[in-house]
Amino acid sequence: MAISLWLNFPAILIELWFHYTSALHSFYINCGGKEETINNITYEADPDKVGTSTFYRSTTHWAFSSSGIFLDDHTEEDVLVLDNKQLSSSIGQIYSNARLSPSSLTYYAFCLHNATYSVSLHFTEIQFTDGKNYSSLGRRIFDVYIQGKLELKDFNIKDEAGGAGKPILKNFTANVSDGTLEIRLQWTGKGTTVIPMRGVYGPLISAISVFDPVYKPQSESRGGISAVAKVGIVAAAAFATFLLVVGILWWSGCLRRRSTLERDLKGIELQTGSFTLRQIKDATNNFDAANKIGEGGFGPVYKGILADGKEIAVKQLSARSNQGNREFVTEIGMISALQHPHLVKLYGCCIEGNQLMLIYEYLENNSLARALFGPEEFQLTLDWPTRRKICIGIARGLAYLHEESRLKIVHRDIKATNVLLDKNLDPKISDFGLAKLDEEDNTHISTRIAGTYGYMAPEYAMHGRLTDKADVYSFGIVALEIVSGTCNTKHNRVKKEYFYLLDVAHTLKQQGNLLDLIDPRVASHCNAGEAMVMVDVALLCTNPTAAARPSMSMVVSVLEGRASVSDILTD
Ligand code: ATP
Repeated sequence: MAISLWLNFPAILIELWFHYTSALHSFYINCGGKEETINNITYEADPDKVGTSTFYRSTTHWAFSSSGIFLDDHTEEDVLVLDNKQLSSSIGQIYSNARLSPSSLTYYAFCLHNATYSVSLHFTEIQFTDGKNYSSLGRRIFDVYIQGKLELKDFNIKDEAGGAGKPILKNFTANVSDGTLEIRLQWTGKGTTVIPMRGVYGPLISAISVFDPVYKPQSESRGGISAVAKVGIVAAAAFATFLLVVGILWWSGCLRRRSTLERDLKGIELQTGSFTLRQIKDATNNFDAANKIGEGGFGPVYKGILADGKEIAVKQLSARSNQGNREFVTEIGMISALQHPHLVKLYGCCIEGNQLMLIYEYLENNSLARALFGPEEFQLTLDWPTRRKICIGIARGLAYLHEESRLKIVHRDIKATNVLLDKNLDPKISDFGLAKLDEEDNTHISTRIAGTYGYMAPEYAMHGRLTDKADVYSFGIVALEIVSGTCNTKHNRVKKEYFYLLDVAHTLKQQGNLLDLIDPRVASHCNAGEAMVMVDVALLCTNPTAAARPSMSMVVSVLEGRASVSDILTD
């Protein structure tokens, strides 16, 4: 469609030009008849029987709309032709045919020059007769509006013309200020409707003449444009099209060499700020190793302080990153659109040369993984209320991603290192690099499995089947880690032993010793009831059957005590 529009563009330009330069100071219509030329004036044909209740557009610059259905009648008579040849030749062709409507007939003209026009409406009553027969009793009464102004009230052609078959011309002036003119004939229920037969009534018009009396056409434009002018117009139109096409191709990048980065960034509407490399270098003391706070799949992460004192975390895309620009760019687009107290805020990005960086809010307490089971010197004392708050916060963030945000996102990589803690130990979900839009209410097969072992739902790991329930599974594992203070998988190389937190939880449950799962660091002061609810929820979230896992909003309700674990089962 767009291509054909472009190919036709010169023709459209020329047509518009010709329209503009030729007949837009006047128009003439032979309503309900074929093209007629009278005194050098050509009345355009309006011959189509299009039926009542319809809209018709001419090939030039006028149209009409007819509304209504003839009362008590099954015909759709919209065009009348006088079959009395003798009368027809005496009154002239344009008066021998007419357009008829049951209720309202509106002619529109458009692309007119703004001016004051002379409007002449031609009428002849050709449906009723004179004399003393039954047909002569019919009375056709309607109103005429021009540019919305009532010009003729209870107009009766036969009365005005002094009989049937007699032409009558009604002249008006009309102001055109927006290029359009509207002439409306409106039946208001007056007159007869069943004489000489059912459904004989309604507004009728024979011809319309509209012209600007002040406009003096130049000799050339009256008869059309000279051949030289036409060639000039065609050449100009073709050149304009060429320039336009080249411009569009350049703009869309087809004629430009673009970096992979630019290509990847195309189409992502950043709702965030952008930073210069200079700003980021100043903030991180030229990426000083002392400011490095972590290293992820994308590359190193640095702490920085902006000129206004704001603390930031700068995630730099390393040259040897095996995760590509695509994920990086996905992350920009996703996070920039999302704002929630439990999602890490993206302040903006820095894209300069080959440098690509994301600028996040800095979270003082690093990741949940480091706080719970990182190197001892980095571990934090997380008491039971704090752990519960963290667990509920993660659940709220996920419920937002799955159910409340405009985009509906499956995170795909929920794990303890992707939960960051702010200075109040409130959790925020980070690392949306792997996030993928959860396409409209359907499950879909991901083209590439991307996540972290131990946290991946079985159906996703084995079959690539990705739904928000994959995140629910990962959340269940994180919840078990929070209660137990233990990483979900451990491998003792010396003893050649494997430890799977989920298996341990199931075993303890079977033995009725689930309380043993609680982290000894909090066991003494822990609210056992709350801890058991969290473990029960975690076990339901890690159900091998995706459909049996609860929604994240349900999880939030249960953890907050607004619903019970049994509600999940019933649900
Ligand atoms: P992967 O990329 O493989 O998922 P990851 O999630 O650990 O691993 P990153 O998100 O790049 O990788 O983060 C690396 C580390 O940098 C985090 O574990 C955390 O310690 C630190 N970090 C990341 N973002 C921030 C931040 N906004 N504030 C404070 N520290 C952060």
